[in-house]
Amino acid sequence: MARHLLLDRADGVALAQPLRADTAGDRPLNLHKERGQREVFCGLTGIIWLHRKMQDAFFLVVGSRTCAHLIQSAAGVMVFAEPRFATAIMEERDLAGMADANEELDRVVHELLARRPDIKLLFLVGSCPSEVIKLDLSRAAQRLSLKYAPALKIVNYSGSGIETTFTQGEDACLAALVAEAPEAAPGADPSLLVVGALPDIVEDQFRRLFAQLGIPRIDFFPPRRSGEIAAIGPNTRVLLAQPFLGDTAQKLAARGAVRLGAPFPFGAEGTTAWLKAAADAWRISAPHFARVVESGRARAKRALEGSRETLKGKRIFFFPDSQMEPSLARFVTQELGMIAVEVGTPYLNRDLAGPELEQLDPETRIVEGQDVDLQLDRCRDAKPDLIVCGLGLANPLEAEGFTTKWSIELVFSPVHGFDQAGDLAALFARPLVRHARLKV
Ligand code: SF4
Repeated sequence: MARHLLLDRADGVALAQPLRADTAGDRPLNLHKERGQREVFCGLTGIIWLHRKMQDAFFLVVGSRTCAHLIQSAAGVMVFAEPRFATAIMEERDLAGMADANEELDRVVHELLARRPDIKLLFLVGSCPSEVIKLDLSRAAQRLSLKYAPALKIVNYSGSGIETTFTQGEDACLAALVAEAPEAAPGADPSLLVVGALPDIVEDQFRRLFAQLGIPRIDFFPPRRSGEIAAIGPNTRVLLAQPFLGDTAQKLAARGAVRLGAPFPFGAEGTTAWLKAAADAWRISAPHFARVVESGRARAKRALEGSRETLKGKRIFFFPDSQMEPSLARFVTQELGMIAVEVGTPYLNRDLAGPELEQLDPETRIVEGQDVDLQLDRCRDAKPDLIVCGLGLANPLEAEGFTTKWSIELVFSPVHGFDQAGDLAALFARPLVRHARLKV
């Protein structure tokens, strides 16, 4: 798959900070910060899963041929329906050409809307070429909104590799979308807002569970259709479904919404704790909660058994990629008996990751940021049984005899909730099983 790497520091000089004493809850944390050369997809990648979720939205990347290649080749293997994204190429223009660039953008939008009148929400997605940086996309979005309102909402955000890593693209998109949410009426009944793009099947499972618990009003953000964006206000209780939505959480808080802190819904334990945070906010009794979750929880635990056999006692090393790493490390150590040697994450949001960090072994090295060469040295030194990393590192590490898992698969696949727990565990077990077979 073609990919465009963000190389943060061409000279690759490490600025690793020394170990600093830190805690999560009342437990010590073995936390390091590292800054140097890193490699990760840019935020445009998020379009691949976001466009499948929002059925009347369209993502127009304002970018270069490189951006177009990235998204077409990434999507080429993943898209099964008519694509809801495209790239408006803005290249080879100087400052004097910016008026033309705006005209060009207006023309592309006009042609797109003439061809696709079903589009109700248009995202203008910024990227990193200098021609695009010079173009003020928020003003372009305002100008075009005036022209096409009310039939079409136009929202802009940046997926630029300078500003975003790959899951930050979803965060930037959803943070921008918060502005489109209506104000909840004062004194409105409390409602639950589940935030993060989940596959429809997972969303339906959660909706059923929340309804059985007795939570009367449940909305998902982003919604499937742009006309269904939930009203937000002080009576909104937010449950994040993904650990990488820090900016979105802040925008929701600014609207008065209250976030419910919880581990993320991975595996039997993570999903139980996540549902419990909502149940507690609605003061649902412990016996009723236990009755509602018991069959799903038991099903999830059973589904983990096979992979647990393979993974128990195995050592795992996470390179920083998706910001899901602390949550996944909690899952594989607590529920599958693995030993996490190092958990790298591009950014560590202590507020969001706190409940997961509290459950990690204090010995586990947690590294925020990356200096890829130093990290590779530590990884080779540790000789883990399984390495979770980006595509660019996986092949060379496999060639050295290591077993790897592509971290991007953990973002693309349905992995949340009781009924996906077995699939999530299998994503970790499969490379080891395959490796063992190859050896035989
Ligand atoms: Fe490359 Fe930047 Fe375009 Fe991403 S946004 S594909 S990093 S040029």
